[in-house]
Amino acid sequence: PLLVNQIAAGECIERPASIVKELVENSIDAGATAIEVGVEEAGSRLIRITDNGCGIDREDLPLAITSHATSKLQNADDLLNIRTLGFRGEALASVASVADVFISSCPSGEQSGYKIRSFGGDVKPLEPVAMNHGTIIEVHDLFFNIPARRKFLKKKATEMGHITDTLTKLALSYHKASFKLTHNNKIVFHVEKTATLKERIEQLLAIGECEMLEISYERNGIEVQAFLAPPEVNRANSKQQYVYINGRCIKDRIVLRAVADAYSDYLPMKRHAVAVLFLQMHPEDVDVNVHPTKAEVRYRDSSGIYSAVYHATLEGLRKGDL
Ligand code: ADP
Ligand code: MG
Repeated sequence: PLLVNQIAAGECIERPASIVKELVENSIDAGATAIEVGVEEAGSRLIRITDNGCGIDREDLPLAITSHATSKLQNADDLLNIRTLGFRGEALASVASVADVFISSCPSGEQSGYKIRSFGGDVKPLEPVAMNHGTIIEVHDLFFNIPARRKFLKKKATEMGHITDTLTKLALSYHKASFKLTHNNKIVFHVEKTATLKERIEQLLAIGECEMLEISYERNGIEVQAFLAPPEVNRANSKQQYVYINGRCIKDRIVLRAVADAYSDYLPMKRHAVAVLFLQMHPEDVDVNVHPTKAEVRYRDSSGIYSAVYHATLEGLRKGDL
């Protein structure tokens, strides 16, 4: 099982940011309202995720860390409606096979927790631990047992950029938890939980006094929820555009093209929009499994996607005039 886990790890753990993504998604799934990510040396020395979610029962700890165990799929049909794609119970076991990993957890309702260690897949006995409700996962010395992989970690600034980006994307799509990121004990960002998603987006993208325009729109079987900065908000940085398809943040030219076209048709010369878009469509209309880590998708009907996003954006901008 160790080799199987290491092979799975090779597919899904590209870099420290991939671990942050998987572990924070687990914290969100666990209903956490406070999530802290602390990293040292851009994650190569330590990644520590602390949450106040439902926790993991004592008897489930060894399973979560060793086998492809998931508590989230009840039957085969769930595979079609899967939210966190590409892993299906592989994340923790994969991480545990390529680092020195400690998982401490105290389920709500228990007085104290348990801690388990996997030293590169070699699982040590459970030990009791005093802690608050929730889960703490520490990933020390990533790839210590796979030197070839460790050597290929990029410069610290690059890895840290990916981690910040990954956590930002998660925080932009989930407002019911506070998020804090520290690097070598210095705060990178910290946002409180908010009442609405719109407030979270405004807070994180720091659009200041302006309010985001919010629009819900449906066309061609595609639901679009768009948060758009008013056209007067000018940013030189074209990267402040985020697209989520069925909950997953992806890189996508078609959607961004549609947004840019709508902005410039609304206000000629307007180029760099600040926008966050959530698209929901039937899982069969989009192939997100092009590659487990590459955030790319293929659509069955690209022009349907384009026109849904174009019209949603234009309508959102016009709504801002009222
Ligand atoms: P998946 O998320 O696909 O189920 P993972 O390997 O990511 O698989 O996690 C395995 C299991 O460990 C989860 O199904 C969940 O039961 C448990 N788990 C992992 N992280 C947490 C957490 N932070 N809080 C509560 N339970 C967790
Ligand atoms: Mg998971």
